[in-house]
Amino acid sequence: MDERISVQRNLTTIKENIHLACLQSNRNPDEIKVVAVTKYVSVERTEEALSSGIVHFGENRDEGLLEKWEHMSDKAVWHFIGSLQTKKVKKIIDKVSYIHSLDRISLAEEIHKRATQPVKCFIQVNVSGEESKHGLEPEEVAEFVKDLSPFTNIELVGLMTMAPYTEDEKLLRTCFRDLKDLQEKIKAMNLSYAPCTELSMGMSNDYMIAIEEGATFIRIGSALVGSEQ
Ligand SMILES: *Cc1c(COP(=O)(O)O)cnc(C)c1O
Repeated sequence: MDERISVQRNLTTIKENIHLACLQSNRNPDEIKVVAVTKYVSVERTEEALSSGIVHFGENRDEGLLEKWEHMSDKAVWHFIGSLQTKKVKKIIDKVSYIHSLDRISLAEEIHKRATQPVKCFIQVNVSGEESKHGLEPEEVAEFVKDLSPFTNIELVGLMTMAPYTEDEKLLRTCFRDLKDLQEKIKAMNLSYAPCTELSMGMSNDYMIAIEEGATFIRIGSALVGSEQ
């Protein structure tokens, strides 16, 4: 028997927190989409999340994505949130609506080649500068966006980052704010293929701060569906 708190109950708490963070920052809660990160949990728990009304689901490995996709294909909207090897693109491309980890031109080329319709992509940015983190340096992003123009199957919807794992609220805020500034800069380039209106930032430990700083997609695993089988 599953002894964990139900997804429904966790979702209620998270929605309350979203409302609080929106009050704090004068935002509309409808702007914020919750992506349930199911990488640690079973197909059953993922189905429970779907029944709780969650629409967006995120996986960071092709195996996990394919396994869950098979069970829930037509109802769920899938997000690929992990670093993506070029050779894995063809396995996932017709299953996902969003890719959060675009970080190199060779990957853009492969997505463009394999996709049969435009894919919504986020550029992953390493705002914190931690060596362990994937993503482009903030200074590289504008040039990279220009280089995406030949790849018409890529729609650059926004930027994504992973903040450092820390309790330091000031550091988190700076990190999210830097991504927001960069997003506005890219948006102002006014490129048809790069509306760049979205911000994928905030996880279980920091999503309220991320929302206060402008997140539109929060990616939540442990606080929503749990972190183990
Ligand atoms: C695992 C993961 C998450 C969710 O992490 P939690 O701390 O469990 O909410 C979000 N984004 C990415 C890219 C992840 O790999």
